[in-house]
Amino acid sequence: MPCPFCGHSITESRPLLAVNTCHLHACPACQFVFADRRLFVAPLGDKDYYAGHKWPEMEDILTNTKAPDRIRSVRRLGAYHGRWLDIGFGEGDTMRMAHRMGYAVGGVEESALAVGHMKDLLPTGRWMSLKEFRASPPRREFEIVSLYHVLEHVIDFRPAIAAAADALVPGGLLVVEVPYFYCLQAKLRPARWQWAVEHHVNFFTKKNLMTLFEECDCELTAVERRYHLNTGSTKTVAKRVKLAVKRALAKIGFGQAIAVYGRRR
Ligand SMILES: [Zn+2]
Repeated sequence: MPCPFCGHSITESRPLLAVNTCHLHACPACQFVFADRRLFVAPLGDKDYYAGHKWPEMEDILTNTKAPDRIRSVRRLGAYHGRWLDIGFGEGDTMRMAHRMGYAVGGVEESALAVGHMKDLLPTGRWMSLKEFRASPPRREFEIVSLYHVLEHVIDFRPAIAAAADALVPGGLLVVEVPYFYCLQAKLRPARWQWAVEHHVNFFTKKNLMTLFEECDCELTAVERRYHLNTGSTKTVAKRVKLAVKRALAKIGFGQAIAVYGRRR
C-alpha cells in the first residue's frame, strides 16, 4: 500500500492501532500516520453532526481559552485585522470572537445546521456550505484562512489545503492546527490516546506540515504546540491554575496538537 503522503510503498503489517474501520499505519519514510484508505468507512455517513446540538453562548466563548488563544496567536504574527475565512468553523466560536474583535469573518462548514446557525447570528458574515465552497472557491480574497482540526478528517488533504491557500491574498496568513500523534501522551499509551478516534484518518508530523505549506506556496512563519482543542476555562481560580499547568505541559512535549502558520507568497 502506498503512503498517502509521500507515496513510499509500505509492506503490509499489523496496524499501529485500530478503531473500528480506522486502521492506522506509520510510513517509515516520512512518519505520516494514516488510516488504511481501503478499509476506512466514514462513521457518520451523510448525517448532520450538529443535529440536536446546543450552541455555545457568548459567555462560554469568552471564558473558554480556545477562541481567545487562537486569535492571540494570529495577532502575534501581525494579523490584527482583515477578512478571515475559517474552513470547518464548527460551532463558530472562533469566528464569533474574531467578529467581536473587528475582523470581517466568514467560514465553510459541511454541516447545514452550522451554516444556518452562523447566518442567523452574524448575517453580514460570508458563510458557505462545503458544496458552495467547492463549486466556486474564493481566490485571493482573505487576509487570514484557518483550518483548525480539519485536515485530520480529510482523506484528500492536499486539495483541501491548496484551496485554503488559494483563498488568501499574497502575504495572507494560513493557519493549520491538527492533533499531534508524536506527543508524549500518544507515545506512552498509544492505544489509550484520546485523539486516536475512528474519524481521524491523518496524523501529520511537523515536517509533513512544512512540506504541505511549501507545496501550496506558503512560507512558514511559526509553529506552536498546544495542549489540544481546548486548554480550559478561566471561570474560577482552580480552573486558571489547571490551565497554567496544561500550558506548561504542552511546552515540554505533552502538547497534543500542533499549529503551523505561514504567509502566502
Ligand atoms: Zn510517507
